[in-house]
Amino acid sequence: MGLSVRAFTRQHIVAIAVGVLVAGTPLIAFNFWLSGVIDRQGQAETDSAARRIISLSESRVGEVLRALDQLAAAGVTACNPANAEAMQRAAFVTPPIKELAIVRPEGQTLCTHLNIAQAGAAGAADASADRLAQVLVQRQVLSTEPLGGRYMLDIVGLADGIKMVRLRQRVGDEPNEIAALMHATLLLPQATAKTDRLYSHVHIATRQGASIGESGVQAKDGSEGFAATRSSEKFGFVVNVTTHRGRTLAGNVDLKWLGLFVTAIVVLILVAFGMMVPKNLPNNPVAELERALKAGEFVPYYQPIVDIQSGKLRGAEVLVRWRKADGTLVLPGSFIPLAESSGLIRAMTFDLMRRVCVEAGAAIGQRPALKISFNFTGALFSDETIIKDVSKTFAGTPIKLSQVVLEVTERDPIENFTLTRQVIAALQGLGVRIAIDDVGTGHSGLSYMLKLGVDIIKIDKMFVDAIGTDRNSTTIVETLVDLARNMRMDVVAEGVENFEQVMHLRNLGVRSAQGYVFAPPLPGSSFLQLVEAMDTLGAETAGAPPLPGRVVAA
Ligand code: C2E
Ligand code: CA
Ligand code: CA
Repeated sequence: MGLSVRAFTRQHIVAIAVGVLVAGTPLIAFNFWLSGVIDRQGQAETDSAARRIISLSESRVGEVLRALDQLAAAGVTACNPANAEAMQRAAFVTPPIKELAIVRPEGQTLCTHLNIAQAGAAGAADASADRLAQVLVQRQVLSTEPLGGRYMLDIVGLADGIKMVRLRQRVGDEPNEIAALMHATLLLPQATAKTDRLYSHVHIATRQGASIGESGVQAKDGSEGFAATRSSEKFGFVVNVTTHRGRTLAGNVDLKWLGLFVTAIVVLILVAFGMMVPKNLPNNPVAELERALKAGEFVPYYQPIVDIQSGKLRGAEVLVRWRKADGTLVLPGSFIPLAESSGLIRAMTFDLMRRVCVEAGAAIGQRPALKISFNFTGALFSDETIIKDVSKTFAGTPIKLSQVVLEVTERDPIENFTLTRQVIAALQGLGVRIAIDDVGTGHSGLSYMLKLGVDIIKIDKMFVDAIGTDRNSTTIVETLVDLARNMRMDVVAEGVENFEQVMHLRNLGVRSAQGYVFAPPLPGSSFLQLVEAMDTLGAETAGAPPLPGRVVAA
């Protein structure tokens, strides 16, 4: 059943979660990128909005000033009927202009293009707009140097709150000025929520800082946004535009949704993938080791250790094998390093010990001379709690602690020498014996290892292999044998593969050996048969020279 609930294990959920995280990283990056795009685009749009408003205000004001220039050129500075027609025509053809007037330098209106006749008659001061209006700000400088300060700007408030700007111009040395009134809002974009979401708030002021007008809604304090300030080179207007993030390009809002949508789709695909092909997901190797340990797939194999002087069986080294459910047998080289680095090695080692007690405990216990060796990763010796655990593991089993040998390899560096020595001493106090494995190959150095106060040294296969071919190697083995004798240690030669090696080792004074010449690591049942056979054999041939050759096949 492809989609069974059983198949959807915790590991698959973990795999999916990891997948989602892995997929999430580019999506987070996408969101970062997106917010960068929004930031850049938002700022660029705000800047260009400010520029557009400047050019809008310049073109509207420019239009009005051109009309004033024409009137000035025509000498319109007095309220007389001759000028009325020129003013009325100018007002008519210049759309921004609401009213044209002749004003006094201090701002008082003398007449407008609408009442010029009466004004002329009445003399002054009752022009229509004037009665309704209040000049809020007077004579803001509009023109820059090349225009000679001829143009001025007033800000005028009408009675109903409408703000107007009055642009005026001096004509030669005339005391009166000609003025045009226009809506202040004409200098700002006519923003509507629908057509122009971009402008959140726009403010325009004169060169001297007097406020001409504003439009839009000011962003709340603390809300994220963009700001741009631009000023008009021609007329000195200062435009401020602020936008808040939510109001920037509508397209970006869509992009955000797109990001979310893509995220959701990727997550869905991963979940679906995890549910549909759970068997194809690679398992976490440590979790797999854990599972195999619980399932009892790590089994002990036993490699006999033989007394090459007497031919008797001296014991065995336990070598772990991973027997998978399909029957395949995995050698320790491919999983011990992971078991060590993941810390599973401790549970694995003690599990192996318990299995040996169950499987071979009786056979070993009945023969007190037999020793059973376990490979004990160096790191385990720097943990005091193993002392109790070792003693508990064998307590109540036929195997006595005096039959137990723990092998520590010279290859593993010793991290805490003092503690290791104390733990070893405590174990020896219980009767356990300690062997140094792979002697001659490690980086710790034999003299350093010997300071640990060990009981047995195991000569590495490398030196055994070289026997008969390399004089140095013979010398090394001899030296080790001498050293061991002096220090009251036993010697075991490893990896003995042929008869010549056995004879050489025997002549060099080596007592114990293990290797394919005697037997490979054997499964429990074969080892037990061997024990029975050699025990009997040993009784019959006691004291006779050993019979070299294989004692048993795998
Ligand atoms: P080791 O402790 O040096 O074990 C001896 C290795 O040499 C074993 O390989 C054994 O099968 C192999 N061997 C024995 N006689 C001969 C021979 O005549 N010729 C050759 N070519 N090889 C021989 P194995 O069983 O593959 O174990 C490899 C290593 O894995 C062991 O080296 C040991 O370091 C480690 N190991 C095995 N079981 C355990 C365990 O339970 N715990 C720990 N920590 N390590 C283990
Ligand atoms: Ca070993
Ligand atoms: Ca070894």
